[in-house]
Amino acid sequence: MIIVLRPNATEDQIQEILKHAREWGVNPDVSRGVERTIIGLIGPEEILRTKPLEAFPGVEKVVPVLKPYKRASLDYKAEPTRVVVGRGENSVSIGDRTIVVVAGPCSVETEEETIEIARAVKLAGARILRGGAFKPRTSPYSFQGLGERGLEILALARQETGLPVCTEVMDTKDVELVAKYTDILQIGARNMQNFSLLREVGRTGMPVLLKRGLSATIKEWLMSAEYILSEGNPNVILCERGIRTFETYTRNTLDLSAVPALRRETHLPIMVDPSHGGGIWSLVGPLARAAVAVGADGLMIEVHPHPMEAMSDGEQSLLPSTFERVMTECRKIARVLGREM
Ligand code: PEP
Ligand code: MN
Repeated sequence: MIIVLRPNATEDQIQEILKHAREWGVNPDVSRGVERTIIGLIGPEEILRTKPLEAFPGVEKVVPVLKPYKRASLDYKAEPTRVVVGRGENSVSIGDRTIVVVAGPCSVETEEETIEIARAVKLAGARILRGGAFKPRTSPYSFQGLGERGLEILALARQETGLPVCTEVMDTKDVELVAKYTDILQIGARNMQNFSLLREVGRTGMPVLLKRGLSATIKEWLMSAEYILSEGNPNVILCERGIRTFETYTRNTLDLSAVPALRRETHLPIMVDPSHGGGIWSLVGPLARAAVAVGADGLMIEVHPHPMEAMSDGEQSLLPSTFERVMTECRKIARVLGREM
């Protein structure tokens, strides 16, 4: 339920409603706009429906949230959410006019190479460094990532370049450890519906990049975001990375229609990953350009100085020089749309 207050509602009246809501076992969200204050109440509908919400002084109207995702929906919050990543002068806001690019290797491999990539992508305009330390590999015999050593390398690269970092956490037992090193906790496509993991990253309050599941509908994806939001963590970024279809030419089918579709449904920032979407390096540039054109708030792109020797996803990784060209092209498209990059 959304309680819209009258413009002249007093602080005492607001507090009275909040007090009752808590007594009913509901955790209220207050959003104080310039014109008026709105209180969001999410709890068992069958209980909330019995409460005389309209009878409270200061209440103008009570509107039910009809979508199954509540906190993620535009009914609940109409203004776009901005997720602030990192601290101080290197902090980055995702969901703003500036399109934020997250770039780096698929897997963190060595300290020297990670720092080399971080410097190169920063120079080309990336604002956040990515790199996997815990890798979700189809085969148990493939490289699984460097684990904590990989996290240490990412933290060193951040120290060297100032770029905040983004890395995947695969298991609830590792959330605390990964959170100690990273600025964004990435939930990979394969874990999009790992509900205990979603709750655990929700409890950290940290920025979470939630990738779309391999066969997840937009509704299921938003319900997963809702798990994180429902733990009191508003810092969720959605990332389209392609879905499984009958087509096998590309690794996945990048669903760019998800971007404008999500805009109709949610206030959360939306990123696109053309690397895992296309799966072939020469498709990454065109898909990145299209993602910017369709209104993405950010891009995630894999970059490696020696793709042929990469421990994972070399076939879809861009050389730093190609990445720089793709950035230049995307920037031009961003400007046409009144955005920076
Ligand atoms: C990744 O970003 O390295 C990754 C494994 O992505 P996804 O979960 O989208 O497959
Ligand atoms: Mn990868």
